[in-house]
Amino acid sequence: MVEESGHYDCIIVGAGPAGLAAALYTSRDRLKTLMLEKFSPGGQINNTDRIENYPGIEHIEGPGLIEQMKKQAENFGTEIKIGSEVTSLQKLQDGNIEVGCDEDKYTARAVILSPGSDYRKLGIPGEDKFHSAGAGVSYCGTCDAPFFKGKKVVAVGGGNSALEETLHLAKFAKKVTLIHRRDEFRATKVLTEEFLEKSNEPNSNLAIKYNTVATAIEGREKVQSALLKNVKTGEEEDYPCDGVFIFIGMVPNTGFLKGFAELTEKGFIKCDCAYLRTSVAGVFAAGDCRIGAAMQLATAVGDGVTAAMMLKQYFRDPNWWNEAVSDALQPGGW
Ligand code: NAP
Repeated sequence: MVEESGHYDCIIVGAGPAGLAAALYTSRDRLKTLMLEKFSPGGQINNTDRIENYPGIEHIEGPGLIEQMKKQAENFGTEIKIGSEVTSLQKLQDGNIEVGCDEDKYTARAVILSPGSDYRKLGIPGEDKFHSAGAGVSYCGTCDAPFFKGKKVVAVGGGNSALEETLHLAKFAKKVTLIHRRDEFRATKVLTEEFLEKSNEPNSNLAIKYNTVATAIEGREKVQSALLKNVKTGEEEDYPCDGVFIFIGMVPNTGFLKGFAELTEKGFIKCDCAYLRTSVAGVFAAGDCRIGAAMQLATAVGDGVTAAMMLKQYFRDPNWWNEAVSDALQPGGW
């Protein structure tokens, strides 16, 4: 039988950077905070062996940074339960939110949803085996491009992320070949024009292969080539390269929220991007799981802090939930 396991001021779902930043703030405000995490703290950051784009920290490994964030939140009183998968949420008549988790049920005055997202994968042989910047498969050009200085890489995708990230990669790599499964990019016209212009410059290090998919990534310790196939002609080639960057979209970890909070067609949590309020009063969204997220470590942390600050405003005045974004809320008011 499922038992009522405790009442909290705030329950945070997901112990990635957004959730841990929120926990630090709510705990420092002496709000009784429970954090529920399905696997281990960190989310995608755990797969990043060198972070170089977190302001103020020159180099750090993902797991090391997460360990520090976790310790810091715990030091201020956050209770973290690892291996606790949230399977249900319900708004109760008394205004609290019930969070169902395996055999346990908790209630809270407010909830911060920070379950993160995963990069969409190609699902081809070699993708998992070489998944780390050191081995050659990456899903983040902003994070890992500097490690491919002077090298030859393949990028996959045709959306805004693929074109933006490939342009960034081209600042470091000797050559970047973008492969796209169709003959037209999904990215905005302006970005597409910029991309095509750069790739047409004399001696450009950008190349494009349309109607092309990757069918395998090969190598010994590190990536040495990608098997490419033209979907129109059926022609295959073993394309030598040092890395494969995959930019084919994100998949938010929000399946458990269906029927509870409003989601976009692609599964991102709908919220107002200033205060991070979702469709359910008392429930905030933070980090990669939300509509409009910039999908960066620093912005996820910022979201966690914003949600924790706004939660205090909700506690002061629950009716604020339905108010428009305004300049009435200023830091001086905290
Ligand atoms: P996206 O817009 O969903 O594009 C994904 C791309 O990957 C598409 O070109 C798609 O091909 C391709 N793709 C998907 N699955 C594939 C597979 N299995 N094999 C090969 N190719 C595959 O994703 P995104 O570029 O990450 O962008 C996500 C959202 O953020 C979008 O709304 C985007 O506009 C936005 N965004 C905006 C900016 C900006 O405004 N500066 C920057 C980045 C992202 P098809 O085209 O053939 O479907």
